Amino acid sequence: MIAVNQTRVTKQIHLGNVPIGGGAPVVVQSMTNTDTRDWQATVAQIIRLQEVGCEMVRVAVLDQQAVQQLSRIKQAIDIPLIADIHFDHRLALGALAAGVDGLRLNPGNIGGGQSVAKVVKSALERQVPIRIGVNSGSVEKELLSRYGRPSPEAMVESALRHIRMLEDEGFDLIKVSLKSSDVLDTIRAYQLLADRVDYPLHLGVTEAGTLVDGAIKSSLGIGVLLYQGIGDTIRVSLTRPPEDEIPVAYSILRALKLRRRGVELISCPTCGRTELDLIPLVEKAERLLRKVRSPLKVAIMGCVVNGPGEAREADVGIAGGRGKGILFKKGVRTQTVAEEELLQRLLMEVQEITGEVIID
Ligand code: SF4
Repeated sequence: MIAVNQTRVTKQIHLGNVPIGGGAPVVVQSMTNTDTRDWQATVAQIIRLQEVGCEMVRVAVLDQQAVQQLSRIKQAIDIPLIADIHFDHRLALGALAAGVDGLRLNPGNIGGGQSVAKVVKSALERQVPIRIGVNSGSVEKELLSRYGRPSPEAMVESALRHIRMLEDEGFDLIKVSLKSSDVLDTIRAYQLLADRVDYPLHLGVTEAGTLVDGAIKSSLGIGVLLYQGIGDTIRVSLTRPPEDEIPVAYSILRALKLRRRGVELISCPTCGRTELDLIPLVEKAERLLRKVRSPLKVAIMGCVVNGPGEAREADVGIAGGRGKGILFKKGVRTQTVAEEELLQRLLMEVQEITGEVIID
């Protein structure tokens, strides 16, 4: 079997109780799009994210009112909470005091010397890591004029500057991201940085776009890097509710055999042989199976030509016939079910195998 290249060896850091880098599994992360000052809406969204497998979450902290809500949010959720801070180091100090598990800030843009020293001191006392996040849109003017554009080299130089600012204060609980909306620039930037530092890397293609475009760009950018053994946490960015990012992230990780969480859904593209109304069936099954945590392979196929083969290989499979489907379980044909009962039967089988309750 072809496998992902040897994972790059990095320092290990911890966000809350989640290990990152140093051989730990790749972690799936997202960011809320609620107003953090509205703690109830933010918590509700984080819980929805948790339910589909998000393992760390970032919230934007724009002002002191948002800082005030962080401990409340932290207490109501089960996954590590990261505060995203720009410009004002007092927000970072407040977030640390509120008990966040991680900060995302660039030391170069929170006011320089003394401000950085204060934040680092507080983060070190609490052993809270900081992610430096360089975006192609945030590269310093001087680097832009030197490199002509936010090239991978310019992004890496920018990241190294921020890293040095933290290291100069004796801080090494660092994670770094280098996101560009250009897939090839993103890949190149991470490759260059991976040769220069041994900090864990957070992967993402920024402003990736809508569901189809964003999923493709993210899969390519993140996928190529993970395949090369680079990357310790990932975020798929979509112009969608963040809950929709998580299944894409797991799909990438499953395809590379890096994580096995959740249902791998195999379904055929349909053709002139399809004998039942397959597309709505598959779409509904996908939606309902999203919350399943156990690793499972489910196949839904449209006919008896190629269907039984795939269905037999899955943990639960359907091979469609005219107005009905043949059900397979763990490679064994179990029964023929009427089309209108297929989904229900499929869900029952999944529940039986996983022991997880599926709620519509
Ligand atoms: S499984 Fe059958 S229905 Fe589906 S695409 Fe293949 S031949 Fe067509």
